[in-house]
Amino acid sequence: MSTTSEADIAHLFHPYTNLVRHPETGPMVIVRGQGVRVFDEAGKDYIEGLAGLWCTALGWGEERLVEAAAKQMRQLPFYHLFSSKTHEPATRLAERLASMAPIPDARVLFACSGSESNDTAIKLIWYRNNALGKPEKKKIIARERAYHGVTVATASLTGLPVNQRGFDVPIDRILHTGNPHYWRCANPGETEENFASRRAEELEKLILAEGPDTVAAFFAEPVMGAGGVIVPPATYFDKIQAVLKKYDVLLVADEVITGFGRTGQMFGSQTFGLKPDMMTVAKGLSSGYLPISALIVAGHVYDDVKAQSGEIGVFGHGFTYGGHPVSAAVALETLDIYAERDILGHVARIAPVLQQGLRALQQHPLVGEARGIGLIGALELVADKEGRKAFDPKLAVGARVVAKAQEHGVILRAMGDAVAFAPPLIISEDEIGQLLGRFRAALDEAHGELV
Ligand code: PLP
Repeated sequence: MSTTSEADIAHLFHPYTNLVRHPETGPMVIVRGQGVRVFDEAGKDYIEGLAGLWCTALGWGEERLVEAAAKQMRQLPFYHLFSSKTHEPATRLAERLASMAPIPDARVLFACSGSESNDTAIKLIWYRNNALGKPEKKKIIARERAYHGVTVATASLTGLPVNQRGFDVPIDRILHTGNPHYWRCANPGETEENFASRRAEELEKLILAEGPDTVAAFFAEPVMGAGGVIVPPATYFDKIQAVLKKYDVLLVADEVITGFGRTGQMFGSQTFGLKPDMMTVAKGLSSGYLPISALIVAGHVYDDVKAQSGEIGVFGHGFTYGGHPVSAAVALETLDIYAERDILGHVARIAPVLQQGLRALQQHPLVGEARGIGLIGALELVADKEGRKAFDPKLAVGARVVAKAQEHGVILRAMGDAVAFAPPLIISEDEIGQLLGRFRAALDEAHGELV
């Protein structure tokens, strides 16, 4: 029988992987996890500095989630929500999310991934404006460096070249405006507030140039994740929301990463004062244990969609596995654990340790900017600190540092030359110290090789 690595190289088509190099470098086979650590085939431990893919908030080995899944598997392993059918886990989860989300009269539509929920949001926006007799009002604005997923429509919203090059996206009716990265994009001498005003003015100009009657919605991650962990500058979302309101443009908050405590409040929208008309959540909803996502829509949006579906006869959208009972049961248990263990209180106590640790690494010769909030952050690696000069992309410095970090027993992710940190929310002060200590050793080694 072949080894896992041999079978992988022979048959597995890897997402987000250099497919040419993969057979040479081979896969990294992870066999188990416990707490904030995962273990490879050789038994070596790694601190998971990104909670998998920003999702495993409760870490590995949470028996209560295993039990919740097993119990639901025995009771009702599958049922769907089409044609007025329902079941207890999805209903209770919808009820819970509606009560938690900062959205008035919320309704919850389930899917299985962040991409699917964002894609559904786009469809609802179009469907609703047809219902309202505004068939021209369909354009959607996202931001450069945004990440909203990889389906045809959401890869179009995503503002990262790697998700678009060669894929024949973006589709039409999708527009992009500047991202809110103050350190990288502000003009010399520009304050955070002035930079935020400039971004809001740019948005207004774009809406006016396109015609306000053609612009339907604006998508935003409260903190941009895969685009490099970009925390919005002071006053940014207030100013952006004033523009959206002026031109009757809906706000969709993509809380796929920022939901459930990551930024210190339950939702990033609360941390940054967003008042979204729709919100998408996934990842932390089940602590990544099973696939589940949700689109949470305000009552006024639901009512318009309902009226349109009445005209047509049925609301013609839904995924077979949307609101899957086992995933929903695990999500309910996850939310119970967050509440019982006061995950928000824990994040409030522990976040300064991570944030101060990252700020301390800013002294390192390779680090241009340390940024973050709550338990999410990034270090931007630069060739020249004072001039904020980036490395030649061909050097792939971010990827090299992350590879070194892996040798030192910490798994992180590079987005260009920004290295992201988003550990499980259950991480302890001591474990943050180990995570940053291992990372510093890797950074020193990479620096030694670069100079
Ligand atoms: N939105 C954000 C902010 C994300 O970070 C991601 C994934 O990382 C997605 C959407 C897409 O989610 P999925 O990979 O579950 O489709």
